[in-house]
Amino acid sequence: MIKKIPKQVRLVLKKIEGGGFEAYIVGGCVRDLIMDRIPKDWDITTSAKPEEVQKIFPDSFYENEFGTVGVKVEKFAPNGNPEREYDVIEVTTFRIESKYSDKRRPDEIKFAKNLQEDLSRRDFAMNAVALRVHDSDFEIIDPYHGRKDIADKMIRTVGDSHERFDEDALRMMRAIRFHAELGFSIEEKTFEAIKKYHGHMKHISQERIRDELAKIILSDNPAEGIDMLHEAGLLDHIIPELEKGVGVAQNRHHIYTIYKHSILALKYCPSKKLDVRLASLLHDVAKPQTKRGEGQLSTFYNHDHVGARVARKILERLRFSNEIIGKVSLLVDNHMFYYNPEEVGDASVRRLIKKVGLENMKDLINVRIADRLGSGTPKAKPYKLRHLEYMIDKLSHDAVSVKMLKINGSDLMEELGLKPGPKIGAILDVLLSEVIEDASKNDREYLLRRAKELDKKDLEKLREMAKEKIEEKKEEDDKEIKEKHWVK
Ligand code: ATP
Ligand code: MG
Repeated sequence: MIKKIPKQVRLVLKKIEGGGFEAYIVGGCVRDLIMDRIPKDWDITTSAKPEEVQKIFPDSFYENEFGTVGVKVEKFAPNGNPEREYDVIEVTTFRIESKYSDKRRPDEIKFAKNLQEDLSRRDFAMNAVALRVHDSDFEIIDPYHGRKDIADKMIRTVGDSHERFDEDALRMMRAIRFHAELGFSIEEKTFEAIKKYHGHMKHISQERIRDELAKIILSDNPAEGIDMLHEAGLLDHIIPELEKGVGVAQNRHHIYTIYKHSILALKYCPSKKLDVRLASLLHDVAKPQTKRGEGQLSTFYNHDHVGARVARKILERLRFSNEIIGKVSLLVDNHMFYYNPEEVGDASVRRLIKKVGLENMKDLINVRIADRLGSGTPKAKPYKLRHLEYMIDKLSHDAVSVKMLKINGSDLMEELGLKPGPKIGAILDVLLSEVIEDASKNDREYLLRRAKELDKKDLEKLREMAKEKIEEKKEEDDKEIKEKHWVK
């Protein structure tokens, strides 16, 4: 085990000890070492106060308001931040968390007398094991029998579960996150306490919830994690919109309820990306509210577009980045795309690429695979989807944006003598709509001739032409989906 501790970590421990203080490796990294996993990050707990740690490591910095000091070391972590030229080891002074009167965060940070006290404030026994490293030997400090829990694959709070969840409700979500990440069971009494205190989740900040949720989604068992949040009553405080699908039946194309289908889509999502997994979980989130009729013939018209807005609202509330929000809502918005090689031509595929972006097509197809498998369809990638991938590849160089046209605004001014102004943009838009219909028209000579003709029309007319083309085609695409009930 000792050999798995990087030399950078040993050096930091040695330097702190050299200053006359105690220093231990603690938390998730000890748990990972015992389990023979590679730790994501390394945490050290010490008797040195933050300013004393800073004195030992002059270019260290304060990581947060809890007295954690980040010590910069030579890069070593395989999954460290690629944008930094150094890695960071977090060094936290022994501390005890005092009262949590708002159930969110401790009122004040109090330093603990010793390691024992520091370990007593940690969430789970498996996270309350400390390791003291000597030159070629080590000593384990394990007052709560965390090693036994790790061996038994068991998540159990340090001390009374009720008190510990009452202090900080996020720990309930952390228990489920560790279940999803490590495959450990949650001890019965601990789970009972979660069910009892689920309402305390409302005190927790959306940012803390988001970080744990993202870890659940990215774990090896995300669907189990989300379903356990539901079982425990926590999901209603995190994504209540998903709870609306519980017990709601679909129509003759589906064997599962909306909720069950959403969970299964996440389970079978072939991508490891956070945005694609979130889109798989949320793709049908608006089905409960768009459901019309009952039984085998009920419909969910527009649930994709309404769902994109609902997904946006959920992710904004959870303070996800704009990048994640935009991507997930784009994928949800387009998850009903229709594709059948016998009826859908090149132009239709180009329109889809224009709408979704070539760079997002693989992710959209992965959401479709998740959707299909989550419906109980045996084959992940039928002939139709494979054909679509082939078409996307084949058409990937065709113009789907004004930038990809063989002429640009300067050409129109220089070759045709047009004056700068909105008309140039309008002409390019019309040209693009025509090139999307027929890729062979993306030819410099042809486009210049056609632009000359278009220049005779006024701005209003040109704008109408570009819009008409898009809307007429959009209606056509949508109509296909609706009429065919889009059998997956
Ligand atoms: P990971 O492998 O995901 O980093 P971790 O166990 O290291 O898992 P962190 O969130 O990095 O989890 O926290 C580090 C340690 O701090 C935990 O192992 C635990 O001892 C303690 N800890 C973190 N959050 C809490 C909390 N809300 N309440 C009590 N102790 C906590
Ligand atoms: Mg950690």
